[in-house]
Amino acid sequence: MQVNRRGFFKVCAGGMAGTTLAALGFTPITAHASTREYKLIRAKETRNNCTYCSVGCGMLIYSLGDGAKNATSSIFHVEGDPDHPVSRGSLCPKGAGVVDYIHSEQRLKYPEYRAPGSNTWQRISWEDAIDRIARLMKADRDANFQVTNSAGVTVNRWLTTAMFCSSAASNETGVLDQKFSRALGMLAVENQARLCHGPTVAALAPSFGRGAMTNNWNDIKNANVVLVMGGNPAEAHPVGFKWVVEAKNHNKATLLVVDPRFNRSASVADRYAPIRAGSDAAFLLGVINYLLSHDAIHHDYVKAFTNAALLVRDDYSFNDGLFSGYDEKHHKYDKTSWAYALDANGMAQRDDSLQNPRCVINLLKQHVARYTPEMVENICGTSQADFLHVCEQLATTAVPNRTATILYALGWTHHTNGAQIIRAAAMIQLLLGNIGMPGGGINALRGHSNVQGFTDLGLLSQSLPGYLKLPSEKQISLEQYLGENTPHALLPGQVNYWSNTPKFFVSFMKAMFGDAAQASNQWGYDWLPKWDKSYDCLTQAEMMTEGKFTGCLVQGFNPLAAFPDKNKAQRAFSKLKYMVVIDPLSTETASFWQNQGEMNAVDSASIQTEVFRLPSSCFAEENGSVANSSRWLQWHWAAAQPPGEAWNDGKIIGHLFMRLRELYQQEGGVAPEPLLNTRWAYNDPRDPMPEEVAREASGYAVLDIQDVSTQTSLKKGEQLASFAQLRDDGSTASFCWIYCGSWTQAGNQMARRDNADPSGLGAIAGWAWAWPLNRRILYNRASADTQGKAWDPKRALIEWNGTKWVGLDVPDYPVTAAPEKNVGPFIMMQDGMGHLFGLDKLADGPFPEHYEPTESPIGTNPLHPAVTWSPVARLYASDKAMMGTASDFPYVATSYSITELFRHWTKHALLNAIVQPEQFVEIGSELAKEKGIVAGDEVKVSSKRGYIKAKAVVTQRIPRLKIDGKTVDTIGVPCHWGFEGTTRKGFLANTLTPSIGDANSQTPEYKAFLVNVEKV
Ligand code: SF4
Repeated sequence: MQVNRRGFFKVCAGGMAGTTLAALGFTPITAHASTREYKLIRAKETRNNCTYCSVGCGMLIYSLGDGAKNATSSIFHVEGDPDHPVSRGSLCPKGAGVVDYIHSEQRLKYPEYRAPGSNTWQRISWEDAIDRIARLMKADRDANFQVTNSAGVTVNRWLTTAMFCSSAASNETGVLDQKFSRALGMLAVENQARLCHGPTVAALAPSFGRGAMTNNWNDIKNANVVLVMGGNPAEAHPVGFKWVVEAKNHNKATLLVVDPRFNRSASVADRYAPIRAGSDAAFLLGVINYLLSHDAIHHDYVKAFTNAALLVRDDYSFNDGLFSGYDEKHHKYDKTSWAYALDANGMAQRDDSLQNPRCVINLLKQHVARYTPEMVENICGTSQADFLHVCEQLATTAVPNRTATILYALGWTHHTNGAQIIRAAAMIQLLLGNIGMPGGGINALRGHSNVQGFTDLGLLSQSLPGYLKLPSEKQISLEQYLGENTPHALLPGQVNYWSNTPKFFVSFMKAMFGDAAQASNQWGYDWLPKWDKSYDCLTQAEMMTEGKFTGCLVQGFNPLAAFPDKNKAQRAFSKLKYMVVIDPLSTETASFWQNQGEMNAVDSASIQTEVFRLPSSCFAEENGSVANSSRWLQWHWAAAQPPGEAWNDGKIIGHLFMRLRELYQQEGGVAPEPLLNTRWAYNDPRDPMPEEVAREASGYAVLDIQDVSTQTSLKKGEQLASFAQLRDDGSTASFCWIYCGSWTQAGNQMARRDNADPSGLGAIAGWAWAWPLNRRILYNRASADTQGKAWDPKRALIEWNGTKWVGLDVPDYPVTAAPEKNVGPFIMMQDGMGHLFGLDKLADGPFPEHYEPTESPIGTNPLHPAVTWSPVARLYASDKAMMGTASDFPYVATSYSITELFRHWTKHALLNAIVQPEQFVEIGSELAKEKGIVAGDEVKVSSKRGYIKAKAVVTQRIPRLKIDGKTVDTIGVPCHWGFEGTTRKGFLANTLTPSIGDANSQTPEYKAFLVNVEKV
């Protein structure tokens, strides 16, 4: 690859200096100076957002084209939007290269088909593709659809075709995906969240009530202490990280970074603490032990706003690594004892003196007492000095006028106890009084640009939009379903907002089934598929290898590169009869049947899967909304048409849906009712417009109604202003109740562009729209004391004015609930409290615990050798047989992302391919010396599941650690290359990773597993 001097400096100006471009010896050739015309003359400017990470940076897209009929616009330049309140005109190297993604040579332009046993693609027409796919789907559905289960209960489910949904498509595509898949009865419906932030929802919802980032990007600047652990935002969310720098420069914040690698975030930290990959829970539980044993907690906050004072049942216990109720045979817990002691009225008992040994806070003290600094050092390899420094810094925020924020990403979620690691962080913030506070919070840094949105929209096996649950086959009636999903309060006078579940659910059913949903048919309850178990990604891969699936639809997802154990995924897909891939780019998944030598050593002729590859638009060619990590729904606009014959995702789903409907109408078939009764009332049902879908997602009046809360009336068809208007009598419809209010009678709230920040606190209420109800900091009632006065007058968010709550943010609280009513600030919780004790909401314990990675370098757990790794992690027998041990694979490997590349997308963009052209792994200098490896050598990294080959980058960034008396080295494995793209061909990094999942979310372990390394 050659790059001239102008190109070289252009690259470096994008912030890419110091990359492997230079490391691998590329040097620019002679410069040719020239002048050029101002390039934006005659251009059309269109607003959009970056399609890569969840910072959601604003973009200005410039295109040429006069807008005349049949004229084609052409995008030729993209730059940062200076008005955008998060990015303020910045783009990182990924965003800066986005034009090369839009015009990538790997963009798909025509529908293509791969016949069984073939080794080539052939072009087909859209009409042919849609018809053949619809017929394959119908044949499989009719053959395998289950109307009832073995007990005779109506289940209306189709278990033999799966759908993997995008994480970068718009919310409006997500709404159509949810309707399409559930109307057909699919249960194997997943999105990227399963493979990234699944544990975030599993941990934060039981802690605070909602499973999302509590604060937002801009608010990070208000922190006094920033702990970055389980993530590397300087590298993975570079523009979001500017708010950390802002906190350091303008708020004198202290930045602490705890990571296995001295990474880019660490390079600007005030203190870097090394840690062994996979030991984060031990570190955080050590912090909790420090805070409790040093009395460094925010007492008033803890007492008033957490469940510290509530009493736990006498039969709850924890001994030798197991909580009470463990069922060894089924590797599950009976969680009955993980509950409060209740009084005669069913309310939780409490002891505000905190003397009762069954108080949550006392059980917690007992639980974490084992995590001494010595134990933390022994398990994590972190020196006691580094560990104690982190504790001391965090402890400085256990006061009303200082806050710490915690930033994490996949470094915490990608573990078998990922949810428990995040729980521990949530508990630290509750003890310090940092939740609900400006500059506080748990900032779960989402990865993909709309993985938040696709999670909000319930595109997971057992979910529905707005974090409603899909009914199970045990819930045989609507009444039973609502009864079991509508919680009762556990303390008197609490909001317990999930008590409104019937309003959310019935409004969803009206949006899903329209006029066909009536009280007389339980709003169409029977038409929803009922689950018997989770058909998550791990389960799907297992079932596919067993030949239990016929087909799968893959939309904007690259599971061959994303599932754990790539070779297993390859075997799984080879068992399918058909696969449909909808994507803007050529992906390894679509080409899983192609022999690529060592990188994909398959026999194409023996793979009988027929594959359809359908070209879709990218973000720059569609209107719609995406939800960034801050829960902001930002509307974007198309700047050009998709290339060639490519279609928008909505048009592809619309055509497939309508073709299937026609087939059932014309030919009949099994259980047509759900499909025929699904509301698909779009102006052109084959090509639904995003604006129509967005209005439906937000919600509207089905009938003329009187809104009691606002004393106003709504006419049939008018948009709702708030989910407070939803009803359970069928008079309102809202596809996703938490999005209700995003498109009101006043118009599209997501398109708002007022970036004013009058307070200077980053409460930018007029930009886009944040769920829920445009609240920018969740649980903001907790920013004020029990009298309703801000804990910190300089950071007043909302306060009680004697009549109501007022301030910078929309109160996340009943506006007229006076402080003396003692309504808890965590309004989604049954007790209104932040949870130090997690009750029965998690699968692996009400308190976090350290468990070793399944592939442990020390092969034991120093805390309880009999229970080394999570006793309830998701592990199939076939995968257990593929686990390695330290005797064969002595080194810990951890996977991660680098600044210049985003997952497996940017390898298709020339600019990014130039700066990171070739696969590499990082090896610590001590290990490299012992192995005779020098920088640039080709090395083979092997696990029990396979191997990759890559260039060695020898570094001092990965320290050698002493763990439980043993020397442990770590290998860094970036995961960006593959056998498709503009970069040099490389191995898929997930070839190495184990197929084992977190017990709560089934999110796989990508961050701590065992490998060997050798020079090739
Ligand atoms: S990848 Fe993330 S940080 Fe970079 S430009 Fe895109 S949204 Fe911004």
